[in-house]
Amino acid sequence: MKKGLLIVLSGPSGVGKGTVIKELMKNDDLKLSYSISMTTRKPRNGEVDGVNYFFVDRDTFLKAIDDGELLEHAEFVGNMYGTPVSYVEKLRNEGRNVLLEIEVQGAMQVKKKCPDALSIFIIPPSMEELASRIRGRNSEPEEIVQQRLDKAKKEMEMVTQYKYVVCNDDVILASDIISAIIKRHMQIKSN
Ligand code: 5GP
Repeated sequence: MKKGLLIVLSGPSGVGKGTVIKELMKNDDLKLSYSISMTTRKPRNGEVDGVNYFFVDRDTFLKAIDDGELLEHAEFVGNMYGTPVSYVEKLRNEGRNVLLEIEVQGAMQVKKKCPDALSIFIIPPSMEELASRIRGRNSEPEEIVQQRLDKAKKEMEMVTQYKYVVCNDDVILASDIISAIIKRHMQIKSN
């Protein structure tokens, strides 16, 4: 069996990565599996441990780094995030295309370790639109919103490091474009 693709999807907070991913996951032809990250962030309303993230304390996270259990890891607005490597490898060996939804520092680590990873960056239609989407989520104090916006501006400078850049003006269109990219890479890999 051919090993599945490793797909890295990044984009600033509030750009709608989650909604785009939900659309992509509906398409069985893409053989996608979502990599569940480990984080020290507290769960938001409705988030479930083992589904959205593995929510852990800092000591557990640091031990996972020491034990070499993470493919990549990064600190983002005061919390640690990382990708458990064993799950990703297991799924890829089963022929699944594994989707990592991670920020740019982690994406650069993956690019170094796995040069054949497929990297996609999602951009918002404008920074104003991004700000209003982050505020609309209404789950965080203004100080954190500002930090996320500052971070978003810095992250946007990294787009050139990605193989593809897709604008999320319309969720269906953005997910159709990403589906086409993934399908083409599945074809290339099987030739
Ligand atoms: P949030 O707190 O909004 O869920 O995520 C904050 C940022 O962390 C997002 O940009 C998200 O893509 C990123 N992120 C989530 N999981 C991981 C991970 O495993 N590794 C890295 N490097 N970033 C992650």
